[in-house]
Amino acid sequence: MRTTDSHQGDSTAATPFDTDVVVIGAGPTGLLLAGDLAAAGLDVTLVERRPAGHSNLTRAFGVHARTLELLDTRGLADALEATGTPLTRMRLFGRLSLDLGRLPSRFDHLLITPQYEVERLLERRAADNGVTFRHDTALHALHQDADGVTAELTGPGDAPLTLRARHLVGTDGHRSTVRAALDLPFPGTSVIRSIVLADVRLTDEPAESLTVNGSGDTFVFIAPFGDGWYRVMGWDRTRQVPDSEPVDLDEVRDLARRALGTDHGMHDARWISRFHSDERQVPAYRVGRVFLAGDAAHVHSPAGGQGMNTGLQDAANLSWKLAAVLRGEAPDPEALLDSYQSERHPVGAMVLRSSGALVRLAMAHTPLTRALRAVAATALGALRPASAKALGMISGLGIAYAPTPGGGRASGRRAPDVPLREGRLHELLRAGEFVLIAPEGATQALPPFAPTTAARVVRATWTDPARRTTALVRPDGYVLWSAR
Ligand SMILES: Cc1cc2nc3c(=O)[nH]c(=O)nc-3n(C[C@H](O)[C@H](O)[C@H](O)COP(=O)(O)OP(=O)(O)OC[C@H]3O[C@@H](n4cnc5c(N)ncnc54)[C@H](O)[C@@H]3O)c2cc1C
Repeated sequence: MRTTDSHQGDSTAATPFDTDVVVIGAGPTGLLLAGDLAAAGLDVTLVERRPAGHSNLTRAFGVHARTLELLDTRGLADALEATGTPLTRMRLFGRLSLDLGRLPSRFDHLLITPQYEVERLLERRAADNGVTFRHDTALHALHQDADGVTAELTGPGDAPLTLRARHLVGTDGHRSTVRAALDLPFPGTSVIRSIVLADVRLTDEPAESLTVNGSGDTFVFIAPFGDGWYRVMGWDRTRQVPDSEPVDLDEVRDLARRALGTDHGMHDARWISRFHSDERQVPAYRVGRVFLAGDAAHVHSPAGGQGMNTGLQDAANLSWKLAAVLRGEAPDPEALLDSYQSERHPVGAMVLRSSGALVRLAMAHTPLTRALRAVAATALGALRPASAKALGMISGLGIAYAPTPGGGRASGRRAPDVPLREGRLHELLRAGEFVLIAPEGATQALPPFAPTTAARVVRATWTDPARRTTALVRPDGYVLWSAR
C-alpha cells in the first residue's frame, strides 16, 4: 500500500513518499516488525548496515514461551521448534529447580536454539511478504516534520541515499543511531563486566539441562543447544579486565571448576569472547513519527535470556498499531501510537529490574547477601504463587497491559490459545487481524474504540456452548474488550 500522498516541506514542492515505513536494523526486532507491516499490506523498507547474507553472531539462544506463542500466531513456531531443544527445567544457585513444564501454554518450555535460526525464519517471512531489503546501507541522520520522516542513508560504495516515509522505526541495536539522532539519553550503568562466553562440547553432561551456580567470587551458567554444543557463560570477581583482553578455554575451564566443582570436560570451543553488560532504557519509545524498539530502547544483563524476547514482543505490540493508523482504521491514532510507550516501557523497566536482580543474586558474595540468596531461592522453590509469578515474568506469559477504558474485566490480559470451532485462537491470529469470539448465534457489533473495521475482523465461536462471553482479541494476542 505505498502511499502516494505528498507533503509540503520547507519548499512548496510536494515530496512523494518512497515507502510507508522505513525500519532501520535487520536484527530479530526489525525483521519481525517489517514482516508484520508488510503482511498488513504496507510498503516497508528495511535498512541494514551489514551486507546481505552476513548474519549476526549467535548471541541469544533461548526463546521463551510467550515469544513462541507470538511466532505461532505468525505460523513460524513449529519450524523454529524443529531447530532446537525444549528445556523444561532450570537449576539456579544449586538449590532452586524451576519447572517450566507447569507453564500454561502449548509451549511449556524454553526453546534453546541459536538467534540466527529465529532471524532466518523472520527474514524469509519478511521477504515473502514483500519487504524491500536495503543491505550494506546505514542510516546516519533523520529529520521529521508533520507529515513524515526523511532518512539520510549511505548505501553500497558510500553512495548517499534519501528515503521519505510516513514513519521510521529504529531497531538498530544498543548503539542505535536513531536514538542518537533523536537526541535521546540512554541512562543506566554497567551491571557486570568481564563475562566470558564459550560455545563448547562437554565430555560429561550436566545432570540438569540448565545449570547456574557460583562460589561468591564466581558464577557459571551452562545450557545445551541440543546438537551436542553447549553455551557457557562465566564471571570471576577476581579477574575484571577489559573486553579486549584475550580469553582462552583454560580460563573458562578453571572458572567452571571453581563455580560448579567440575568443568564437565569442556573441549572444542567454536566461539570464545569476553563482554560486559549494561542496564539502560531510553525514556521515550516514541518521538513524533519515530519509534524505538528492541535493544535500541533497552539493554540489560543476559540473566533470564530476555533481550531478544523483549525486542520481539515490542515489535509485535507496535506493528498492528502502526498498521491500523496507516490504514486509517484507528479512531484515535495519536492515543493508539502513544499506547506503544505506555504498554512497552513498563515491561522494559520490569525486565531491567528482574534480570538485574538475577545477576546480582548470582554475584552475591558477602555472607549476608549469600544467605539472602539462599532464602530467596528456597522461598521461590517452595512457594507456588511466588515461583508461578517468577515463571510468568521470565516466560513472558505473565505480562499484561493496562485495561482499555470500557474494555471489561479481561481487557489487557494475554489471550490463551483456546480451542474454537474454527481452530485454535493462535491459528486464527495468523491473519494478523483482530479476532472476535462470541457465543454461537450472537451478532456482536464492535465497540466504538476498536481500531479496526468490521470487514477485517476474524469471527469465531466458542467450542463450549455454555460460554456466554464475547471477547475481542488484538492482533498481538491481548484482549482489547470483553463483555457478558
Ligand atoms: C552473550 C549474549 C547472550 C544473549 N542471550 C540472550 C538470550 O538467551 N535470550 C534473549 O532473548 N536475548 C539474549 N541476548 C540479547 C539479544 O542478543 C539481543 O537483545 C537481540 O539481538 C536484540 O535484537 P535487536 O533486533 O533489537 O537488535 P540487534 O540484534 O542488535 O540488531 C540491530 C541491527 O541493526 C543494524 N544496525 C545498527 N546500526 C545501524 C544503522 N545505523 N543503519 C543500518 N543498520 C544498523 C545492525 O547491523 C544489526 O543487524 C544475549 C546477548 C548477548 C550479548
